[in-house]
Amino acid sequence: MQQFVRTRIAPTPSGYLHLGNVFSFAMTAMLARRHGARILLRIDDLDKERVKREYVEDIFDTLDFLELPWDEGPKNYHDYQTVYSQVHRMALYQDALSALREKGAVFACECSRSALLQEHPQGIYKGKCKDKGLSLEALGYNWRMLTPVGTLPPTMDYFVVRKKDGIPAYQLASLVDDVYYGVDLVVRGADLWESTLAQRYLAELLGYGSFLAATCYHHALLKADANEKLSKSAGATSIQYLRTQGKHRRDIYALMGKMLGLAYPITHWKDLKEEACR
Ligand SMILES: [Zn+2]
Repeated sequence: MQQFVRTRIAPTPSGYLHLGNVFSFAMTAMLARRHGARILLRIDDLDKERVKREYVEDIFDTLDFLELPWDEGPKNYHDYQTVYSQVHRMALYQDALSALREKGAVFACECSRSALLQEHPQGIYKGKCKDKGLSLEALGYNWRMLTPVGTLPPTMDYFVVRKKDGIPAYQLASLVDDVYYGVDLVVRGADLWESTLAQRYLAELLGYGSFLAATCYHHALLKADANEKLSKSAGATSIQYLRTQGKHRRDIYALMGKMLGLAYPITHWKDLKEEACR
């Protein structure tokens, strides 16, 4: 069986963890223990406007409640704040952004989210600002990649690597972190398939061979009902809420199994099987 060194779980503390998140962590735990990988807890907290302390605390609390293990990374809020927050790795992200800029791989974009939505129902960006020559120095502009048309899925054309406030965007920060921590197994939902392609594109440009060699495993998504994707707005699926309703750990795993349509019952992440979830 193939062995891996390290995988990670990477929650964003902008809401309480819900069934969709913890299913992804459960899959990660199962695959890690099966393939000999250590699990890193990485808290993706660059979006300062949405991150709240109570949501960070909820991550530790919920992982403990569901007996989801992690071997590396913060064990509590203090560890997180003093050592592991992405804020402490800002210089690494800036280095990667500078490298992209030196390669002429980025351009500045002044379009607002609402303007993009007016032009396209899914907000797909068609490269409007790529020939405007806007300054890469000033804040107030997104930095977007000059992706050749047809290289990536349309939703990832000209994807953003630095946001208007100067903060690195998800695709860049997640990639830099995975390289920095030596992650060779990435487990994520099928909804992040396009992100994986965008990150591989970045990794090629930046010469991140370790990420290109990593295995990315995309698991099925839980469905609330027909074709409805779970999200944080679906508050009724937060683990905190389910606990207030008297649900125990085994009930929550059983619910996950049901929402996944598994042919066998589960009461713990250890009951998950690799084959059934591809
Ligand atoms: Zn633009």
